[in-house]
Amino acid sequence: MALLPIHLLGSPILREPSAPVATVDDEMRAFIADLFETMDAAKGIGLAANQVGVGRRVAVVGIEDDRFAMVNPRIVASEGRETAEEGCLSIPEIYADVARPARITLEALDQEGQPYRLEAEGLKARAILHEIDHLDGVLFLDRLSPLKRKILTNRWKKSRKDSPATILEVSPASNASS
Ligand SMILES: [Zn+2]
Repeated sequence: MALLPIHLLGSPILREPSAPVATVDDEMRAFIADLFETMDAAKGIGLAANQVGVGRRVAVVGIEDDRFAMVNPRIVASEGRETAEEGCLSIPEIYADVARPARITLEALDQEGQPYRLEAEGLKARAILHEIDHLDGVLFLDRLSPLKRKILTNRWKKSRKDSPATILEVSPASNASS
């Protein structure tokens, strides 16, 4: 297993829709294991493949002991509306309230390539939606009002002024948040 470098806002791959996964093979399973390890080291609750520079439709979510991979995920039903604070490993130290569906039904393949269906609400639903957004090239900033987005984008640029790199090496001791 390996820790993978995380791409930050400004890296073009975060803005590209990812390609479907054709088969879940050993190589994909090894990559998923790396995604989990990187997410944990970065202290996140979700990580999408394009956040580590791989444009494939796969992401992982881990909220305490509830951990699962999503290959070719799609939302087949959603209802309600809920607003809560979000952050993103690709936009460190920037947080905002984001409105999303409150309850969702997800269909995806697991790391064995088996299809599953899952109903989720609250933080789990939010994490799933945030990761699927990544696979579509969408960031949580895009779901804010234009004014709020501008303010936070400027704050981000200012914070990155002295370190303009768009790829962050993750170390086991990393203290990046959510
Ligand atoms: Zn994110």
